[in-house]
Amino acid sequence: MMALNRGKEEEAAPPTAKPEDLSRYLPFDGNKAYQHLVDVCKLGPRVSGSQAMKLQQDYIQKALTAAGAQVQFQSWDIRHPETGQPVTLSNIFGRFHPERTERILLACHYDTRPYADEDPDNPKAPFIGANDGASGVGLLLELARHIDKLDTKYGVDIVFLDAEEFIFDRERDPFFVGSTYLAEKYRNADINFRYKWGILVDMVGDKDLQIYQERNSISWRDTRPLVIDIWRVAKKLNIPEFVSRPRHTVNDDHVPLHDIGGIPIIDIIDFDYPSPGYGPKYWHTTKDVPENCSADSLAKVGKVILTWLQELE
Ligand SMILES: [Zn+2]
Repeated sequence: MMALNRGKEEEAAPPTAKPEDLSRYLPFDGNKAYQHLVDVCKLGPRVSGSQAMKLQQDYIQKALTAAGAQVQFQSWDIRHPETGQPVTLSNIFGRFHPERTERILLACHYDTRPYADEDPDNPKAPFIGANDGASGVGLLLELARHIDKLDTKYGVDIVFLDAEEFIFDRERDPFFVGSTYLAEKYRNADINFRYKWGILVDMVGDKDLQIYQERNSISWRDTRPLVIDIWRVAKKLNIPEFVSRPRHTVNDDHVPLHDIGGIPIIDIIDFDYPSPGYGPKYWHTTKDVPENCSADSLAKVGKVILTWLQELE
């Protein structure tokens, strides 16, 4: 081999790769996303059916309308798991180009857990959910501002899912109530559109960001290509926090949307909060506060999704 190639090295050298011009991508603003996160956390714990949840619904509706979306509430009643009283739940849709029949679904949950029940010192403390709740809201509200500028054939639905974790008793109460309701309606209703792809974001604000591939998303045959594509975009944007290997299997809202609704949807989640290993754990504790999240992390995830949307064929 060496002998054969001698003298041809210059000729055989690949042309110098021109670095790709990244300036054509829309400018996702991490500070705006983080400000939304702070604003909704200021409302207090946003448990399904609570007054703070109602205020958050107004906040989301206002921001979506300002972004040019058509806002729709998908509302229904359940019984409160503790008291049996009726509670009205709502998934909030911000729809762009609602007439388009091929659509993209971008989702997060916006309710917060009733208690910080994994807190080692105070498991009955109220839970603020800066990362587990508000980070998805902040990211999707900032993303919404750019959707109308996309040159795409797809319609986009941004959805804020209720009652992901309206959990008072882990053995008794159902998870994913909002996404399950959406999935059943989508499957059974006589709708004239279909979701080509879906992306769920959850826990995307961690200051110490590492996004591994979620194991369901990389394993399902219909979603695997989307995982590969998203991590390809992250690599192109020089965002090494998207780590190209699986780590956790996360049971999250994407599971009912995929398994019941048949929607090819992946979960983008940093389940190590703050970091992998044996250090402190902020998940479902009183440490899940805005100070442990950052604009920079939200910007990284937001840029990847926005760029992916821009390149979508
Ligand atoms: Zn949670």
